[in-house]
Amino acid sequence: MATATQETVPNAKTNLVPIHPRVEEFLRSPKRLLIGGKWVDAASGKTFATVNPATEETLARVAEADAEDVDRAVRAARAAFSSGPWARMAPAERGKLLWKLADRVEEHLEELAQLETLDNGKPLAVARAADLPLAIDLFRYMAGWATKIEGNTIPLGLAQPESFLAYTVREPVGVVGQIIPWNFPLLMAAWKLGPALACGCTVVLKPAEQTPLSALRLGELIQEVGFPDGVVNILPGFGETAGAALAAHPDVDKVAFTGSTEVGKLIVRAAAGNLKKVTLELGGKSPNIIFADADLEEAAAGAAMAIFFNHGQCCCAGSRLFVEAPVAEELTERIAKEAEKIRLGPGMALDTEMGPLVSREQYDRVRGYIRIGAEEGARARSAPLQGLERGYFVPPTLFTDVRPEMRIVREEIFGPVVCASSFRTEEEIPAAANDSIYGLAAGIWTRDIRKAHRLAGRLRAGTVWINCYNVFDAALPFGGYKQSGWGREMGHAVLENYTELKSVCVRI
Ligand code: ADP
Repeated sequence: MATATQETVPNAKTNLVPIHPRVEEFLRSPKRLLIGGKWVDAASGKTFATVNPATEETLARVAEADAEDVDRAVRAARAAFSSGPWARMAPAERGKLLWKLADRVEEHLEELAQLETLDNGKPLAVARAADLPLAIDLFRYMAGWATKIEGNTIPLGLAQPESFLAYTVREPVGVVGQIIPWNFPLLMAAWKLGPALACGCTVVLKPAEQTPLSALRLGELIQEVGFPDGVVNILPGFGETAGAALAAHPDVDKVAFTGSTEVGKLIVRAAAGNLKKVTLELGGKSPNIIFADADLEEAAAGAAMAIFFNHGQCCCAGSRLFVEAPVAEELTERIAKEAEKIRLGPGMALDTEMGPLVSREQYDRVRGYIRIGAEEGARARSAPLQGLERGYFVPPTLFTDVRPEMRIVREEIFGPVVCASSFRTEEEIPAAANDSIYGLAAGIWTRDIRKAHRLAGRLRAGTVWINCYNVFDAALPFGGYKQSGWGREMGHAVLENYTELKSVCVRI
């Protein structure tokens, strides 16, 4: 199926970082649900295993929440929202707590990074340099917003100006259910918790069943810095049980979800019962467009990073590559070379550049797509693995000879697999790039600033990166057009997700 272009992929198996003593201790300790400020067992008494994807061994067993626990947690969150210290807390105090949490996460950076690597598979170097710093920064950025959630005074158009005073107030939306994925477990928890807490909401957070550990450790830090009981409740559990119960719960005011488009649609249906507010950050099949006038070295490295970062397990991965015809062959060759250089190995080895995929299910799914691509007639380039007998490793794979109707071009693979095709004119790009049910992100590589901005305006995507890719910042909104989602995360745009707008009109 795949054509080997070199003997084997490089392998980074040696020199595993020793496990931090606090990680050892955490892994040994019981892992329960955080409800109303207490660590409790699941009502059913059930637990589930979380697996190290590099070794396929069980890392720990975790309490498994289901509908009854969701109900308990929602009651705790409601009580904390309606009465108690959180309801009366000054915004500056909420901001201070978020800032303290950022400091505490920073103090525990190594420990949390290791937990992330063990549970998710990503390279420790990446968890240290990306996941953790971005999460810390997000908490700090949102700490600043806590005191700046403002309304407006509104001059009424029809009334006598002196007869009325009208103004708007932004109030917290209430009890929020947050359901997050496994690709950036702690960072996704931060993206969700940060703005909800800045706005004064209370939260029931469900981490993904594949990666519950960093959220549980974060829960301990949340308790330590002094968030009042019930403000943050954390319920590891499965999607079809705990997740579905949270999305459907009649006393949850809003649900914020990050995950697949398929499950996003289930969330919308489940939320219909009480018409809770919904925001969704869903899948993507993002186009990455390289013009012949780009810095080709930079573009090749950027295109490889766009798809292979986090093993392609990014909703915004640049998985559809469009290269201008005159440089198409050269560019794909360069990207294939970049891919072949990536060292695969366990995340705990510091020279690892790509770890295993998160789970057996994901491994089967991505390998299934690689098979489908070959069956559809595309040409795959990837090097065979060696010396990685255990673990869910899939080598970076570049498909050429692809056609727009192929499943590998249309469907989100969520793995290190990119489909490359060529184009002749700028004019044909918007239609080709926008030919997707998704609209999360896009990349453009060119030295021509007019062309770059012209095209940015014609791409139906929530984020357009020009001469860069995967640049994230707490201040920069992120989210999708079309079936990539509803609403935006980060930036001040996210505050709309967690507030209701009240108009007050006074006759004076
Ligand atoms: P993936 O397929 O990549 O695992 P999912 O969309 O299935 O992504 O999962 C993202 C999150 O959604 C996880 O926390 C998962 O438990 C949760 N989830 C899955 N199915 C449902 C569901 N029916 N209702 C609510 N949450 C769900």
